[in-house]
Amino acid sequence: MAGQVRAAVKVGIEQTQIRRFDRPVLGENDGLLRVESSGVGGSDPEMYRRENTAPCIMGHEVVGTIEAIGAAAAKRWGVRAGDRVALQEYLPCWHCEWCRQGDFRLCMETDFFNVKDRFNLLRYGTCNAGIPPHLWGGYAEHMYLAPNSVIHKIPADMDARHATMAVPLGNGVQWAVLDGGASIGKTVLVFGPGQQGLGCTLAAKAAGALMVIIVGMTRDRARLDLSLELGADLAVDAQQEDLSKVVMAVTGGRGVDVVVDTTGDPDGSIAAQAVALSAKGAWLSLNGLGASVAINDIKKRYLTVRAPRGHSYRAVQTALDIFAVVHWPID
Ligand SMILES: [Zn+2]
Repeated sequence: MAGQVRAAVKVGIEQTQIRRFDRPVLGENDGLLRVESSGVGGSDPEMYRRENTAPCIMGHEVVGTIEAIGAAAAKRWGVRAGDRVALQEYLPCWHCEWCRQGDFRLCMETDFFNVKDRFNLLRYGTCNAGIPPHLWGGYAEHMYLAPNSVIHKIPADMDARHATMAVPLGNGVQWAVLDGGASIGKTVLVFGPGQQGLGCTLAAKAAGALMVIIVGMTRDRARLDLSLELGADLAVDAQQEDLSKVVMAVTGGRGVDVVVDTTGDPDGSIAAQAVALSAKGAWLSLNGLGASVAINDIKKRYLTVRAPRGHSYRAVQTALDIFAVVHWPID
């Protein structure tokens, strides 16, 4: 129907309805995206099963074509109608010290840790669809481009399925390379062969890492096999193999230089393994909110420990630049 946009709205736990919303009335500073593709992120299934996030148009890894745009927005973003873009999920302030260095993820306006009610914090793919102009998610025909959107222009011929992976690969660039220091000669251990873990593998290998070891469980066999196609040197099934023996054998008993946990460490066991398998001076990205690591162990190994917190502008742009020059087969 002319003037309306159809969207898949999460209306309850694992419940979706197709609803129609009025096409937003645009001004000078905003725009409308015609969605080509929207990924399913690692956090999406979890969110879909949660009660307190309805009504919501999910989808936060969004690629599309600018259908309409205000003159001021076009000038500010350097794009025009017809251009293709990939979006970040953040809707930041653009003025704070973090925004000014491209770390929109740490802006007070985007930070889930700063708010009691995440549902009403404006962010693509997670916020309340009741907030006008409603089109805040990628699982829709169109998405609203707010004045404070974070936009990456992409080439006209880039496969939308690659561009949709800009955020997961951007996370890999951020956590394994920009933060973790994966680079030539380094050994990298990645826990979890999902999107983020595969992103870390690709990014670490693109940065020249000597060896990437990725770890999963027996049920992850297909993903572990895929990781080998994407450049991992070793894919370990931790339920069938002794991870510690494997890591120590291939590093000559030294341990690895970089560890990234992308599993969320649900039972708190990965943090301890990560520390035990680290070389002296290693960098660790640990993800378990409930896990604990003894400061004494950090001191003994002279470790640097950080928890992953999204992606910077540079990380996502680097991911898109990699997709622009490396053509992985898609089927
Ligand atoms: Zn800010």
